[in-house]
Amino acid sequence: MFTGCHAPAWWCDAHHLVHWIDGGDTSLDNTALLCERHHTQVHHGFTIGWDAGEGRWRTFRPDQTEILTGTLTDTRGDPLPDLHTADPPLFPASPSG
Ligand SMILES: [Zn+2]
Repeated sequence: MFTGCHAPAWWCDAHHLVHWIDGGDTSLDNTALLCERHHTQVHHGFTIGWDAGEGRWRTFRPDQTEILTGTLTDTRGDPLPDLHTADPPLFPASPSG
């Protein structure tokens, strides 16, 4: 739900949009899935929120500018191929033999 993040849901933690200490409840309406890296960023100045009017999540930097993504392009403006590859496994298989 952090703009530009492609972490699969099963990597993510549930983040309370309104923190429980501020009266936020643990409900689907008050939670967002965030990967560990972006969960940390949201606790250090970044904010996310559901825009019901546009039907999408929006992400803002600490200076309140919005993070927007589009098609990645090279210096000529031609679209780049999708370079996303899966991260290596956390626990590589132990060497055999
Ligand atoms: Zn993320």
